[in-house]
Amino acid sequence: MVRPALTMASIAERTFIAIKPDGVQRGLVGEIIKRFEQKGFKLVAMKFMHASEDLLREHYIDLKDRPFYPGLVEYMHSGPVVAMVWEGLNVVKAGRVMLGETNPADSKPGTIRGDFCIQMSRNIIHGSNSVENAEIEINLWFTPDELVDYTCCEHEWI
Ligand code: UDP
Ligand code: MG
Repeated sequence: MVRPALTMASIAERTFIAIKPDGVQRGLVGEIIKRFEQKGFKLVAMKFMHASEDLLREHYIDLKDRPFYPGLVEYMHSGPVVAMVWEGLNVVKAGRVMLGETNPADSKPGTIRGDFCIQMSRNIIHGSNSVENAEIEINLWFTPDELVDYTCCEHEWI
């Protein structure tokens, strides 16, 4: 069998995905996890938690001067979230494609935001927008021992 040459660096790319409080309230946790699993990405870490305002303020620190920042932090603090780390080839970019656009109205059917929400301030899911930011967000939300090291399945099959 001829196996494709995959480098470990690209396979091991990671992204931070969070199901926001409205996604949890609306019962979309399973649907969202299913999409990442079925795409072929590997779950590395997951926790169900009510994030502190301090954590959320830090998570969105790049947006601190935007008028919607206080409301965004309040929204994210309004209920529990599912914080996750997913791994795989080009997972940061692919994850953003799976999410759709920031504004659900611009998101195509077939994307998570395109299929399940209507307005920007209730867009049900977060995904890192660059490999660099993914690393910052993963370190913010998880301790190193919460990132689980295991063999999921042979990468060559995906
Ligand atoms: N957001 C908002 N109003 C805006 C822009 C953004 O409420 O005009 C919220 C929205 O929930 C978005 C989050 O702020 O997901 C972070 O904004 P960003 O531009 O980083 O969008 P994302 O990366 O989530 O697509
Ligand atoms: Mg963003």
